[in-house]
Amino acid sequence: MVNTDFYKELKAECDAANITLVAVSKTKPAEDLLELYELGQRDFGENYVQELVEKEAALPKDIRWHFIGHLQSNKAKQIVPFVHIIHSVDSAKLLQEINKQAAKVNRTTSCLLQMHIAREETKYGMDEAEIIDAIELKESLLNVGVKGLMGMASFTDDKEQVEEEFSRLKTIYNRYFSSSATLSMGMSGDYKLAIAQGSNMIRVGSLLFGARN
Ligand SMILES: *Cc1c(COP(=O)(O)O)cnc(C)c1O
Repeated sequence: MVNTDFYKELKAECDAANITLVAVSKTKPAEDLLELYELGQRDFGENYVQELVEKEAALPKDIRWHFIGHLQSNKAKQIVPFVHIIHSVDSAKLLQEINKQAAKVNRTTSCLLQMHIAREETKYGMDEAEIIDAIELKESLLNVGVKGLMGMASFTDDKEQVEEEFSRLKTIYNRYFSSSATLSMGMSGDYKLAIAQGSNMIRVGSLLFGARN
């Protein structure tokens, strides 16, 4: 069930603070997205290429699609023609491939570099040295716009640890990006901590759309 009351509250809170709310709709049916769309929501986040391609074809054209899942290089070409921004660029190789595919369709694709901040090894993302390399590389890539950073904190109840991870990401962001850039951090379980640490884009799924199977 879509939690429209919570959506309205959260959206108002984000608007007042100049934070972009990305409604993460992975695994949820088109009707659920439309319910928020009718309330004015335009930024939706998806994790799976196939699912995103299908939803994009079925839903209104003014939706801004955020790709937030792990992206395999060979699948970039399926989303580059229409995606609003890719949050999950985790290698220089992927950035180059997005650039190549974007050039083919005459676009400039906005991207965020995903930094690894969690303790879990399983999460994707670059370390600071790789972020620096990617920022240097972008100067030679004409069809990608690197707009900022994205990160996911550890999945833990330990608030101090999550705060420390978000604060580390904010420090790196301050080091390499201007204040008008994008810092995508915070999900259902930790968006308040993320905002307190300076996030300006949050990605919220289950609190809006209910738990996923
Ligand atoms: C699924 C997902 C989210 C949303 O998660 P919730 O806990 O449901 O809010 C945010 N970011 C990424 C990268 C995700 O994969």
